[in-house]
Amino acid sequence: MKKVLIVGSGLAGTRTAYYLQNTCEVSIYTKGRRTECNSYLAQGGVAAAVPEKDSWHAHAEDTLKAGVHHNDVRAVETLTKEGVAVIHELINEGMAFDRNPDGTLRFGLEGAHRLPRILHCHGDQTGKYVTLFVQSELNNVAWHENCPVVSLIVTEGRCTGIRYFDEHGELQSAFADFVILATGGLGGLFPLSTNDQTITGDGMAMALRAGAALSDMEFIQFHPTLLTKNEKCYGLISEAVRGAGAILVDEDDAPLMKDYPLKDLSPRDVVARVLTTAYAEGKKVFLDISAIHDFEERFPQITANLQKHQIPYRTTKRIPVRPGAHFMMGGIQTDLNGRTSLPNLYAVGETACTGVHGANRLASNSLLECLVFSERAARQILSTPTVPENKHAAHLPSAAVFKLPSRSELQTHAWRELGIERTEAGLLDLLAWLARYQFFDLPPAFLFSELETANLCLIAQFAAQAALKRTKSLGAHYRKDEHYEQHSA
Ligand SMILES: Cc1cc2nc3c(=O)[nH]c(=O)nc-3n(C[C@H](O)[C@H](O)[C@H](O)COP(=O)(O)OP(=O)(O)OC[C@H]3O[C@@H](n4cnc5c(N)ncnc54)[C@H](O)[C@@H]3O)c2cc1C
Repeated sequence: MKKVLIVGSGLAGTRTAYYLQNTCEVSIYTKGRRTECNSYLAQGGVAAAVPEKDSWHAHAEDTLKAGVHHNDVRAVETLTKEGVAVIHELINEGMAFDRNPDGTLRFGLEGAHRLPRILHCHGDQTGKYVTLFVQSELNNVAWHENCPVVSLIVTEGRCTGIRYFDEHGELQSAFADFVILATGGLGGLFPLSTNDQTITGDGMAMALRAGAALSDMEFIQFHPTLLTKNEKCYGLISEAVRGAGAILVDEDDAPLMKDYPLKDLSPRDVVARVLTTAYAEGKKVFLDISAIHDFEERFPQITANLQKHQIPYRTTKRIPVRPGAHFMMGGIQTDLNGRTSLPNLYAVGETACTGVHGANRLASNSLLECLVFSERAARQILSTPTVPENKHAAHLPSAAVFKLPSRSELQTHAWRELGIERTEAGLLDLLAWLARYQFFDLPPAFLFSELETANLCLIAQFAAQAALKRTKSLGAHYRKDEHYEQHSA
């Protein structure tokens, strides 16, 4: 039986496990508890050309437009065409997406989709319910929760296993025929992020150290409206609130988006830059919700979150917001079957870069990406012959020590120089600052939190190099020192 190790318990990792569990020996290693992942947090939904009036061609066109045609066209066609089948498959397995009173599926509309094609589950809790559903289908998998993976083992030019901390904090090795990285994005690089706290670019850093290629690292999506209090993020305030009539104002109630053609519903990157400028000018930004009379009925989850964090929205009619990191379009370069440039190493989900998102992600395409490309990666693994197991791991270069900045110093630099607005001078400053530290080679002993910081430094370095090379703005990559030519959704 083929042995497969999966790193990460989000939708990408668990759905791949689902397809392999009865034909392979599958183990899932995850950093925290199995529900600690971005998949669990997804509020919006899953986009797919399921409605009768829709077509995968139309979904593909919308995806390409949002990605400013930087996308890999074959990847987009694969996502949108096969996306329809994987949704039906999930429904046939028993996944209960929201329905209309007449029993038909209910489809929502989101920015830059030409028609309603977003499936939801319990309204704004789609990610939670899809993730729990897929996890509940795993009955033949060895779970290793609270086991953060440290590095990949490479033997004779192929990936043969992982090193990880077990639940007692001891460093262990595990070997397999195939290793799948499903470790999500890099939200932890920035001081404010919508991401789960376990998301620190680990898979990308592990892949880099093992010699696998990354691509599109300059394309990081920032969301304009994170709920913030005392400079900390407490979740997302979805665009639907602005769709219902909320407007962005400064502390003097001056509307910030009034001069833009689409006003408060302008593309995410445009809104994020307006808010960045306001904060740079020393202003504070709020969502004024006074026009939404039934706010609590319409947004029960957001209301509960506001109450949990004691935001006085009832009296002020204002929600404090700031922009922050949300989604990584780039990542570990893969083909359409999840194969990376390192033999026997696969990557799926947000950590992978199939080219499907181009320079900016179309809303609600990432859960679909997890579903489509996990199925393809599993199929590829099932049809790939194994080579005899070799437990003599290649010796990894070992530095004497890590020399690291603090996480908060790194986040401050990353936000200033690799955030929503970038310049050549800023990116060069970031690279020069990073060059003072040692974070590539792993020392013989370290804390996992130190490794996370090292991983984030490494990812910041690669993203800054990519952002420096791309001298013109494109999609989510905005070069302030260049004329901005493109808008994206
Ligand atoms: C607040 C929020 C709302 C969103 N809303 C939507 C939406 O409505 N629709 C949509 O399509 N997308 C949405 N997204 C994006 C989407 O949720 C993610 O892109 C997608 O869920 C990624 O799935 P994944 O399986 O690749 O990664 P994740 O779900 O992030 O899972 C990664 C897993 O890897 C684990 N891990 C990381 N490093 C290690 C390590 N070193 N060792 C072991 N385990 C490790 C993590 O703990 C986690 O379990 C949203 C994202 C956020 C944050």
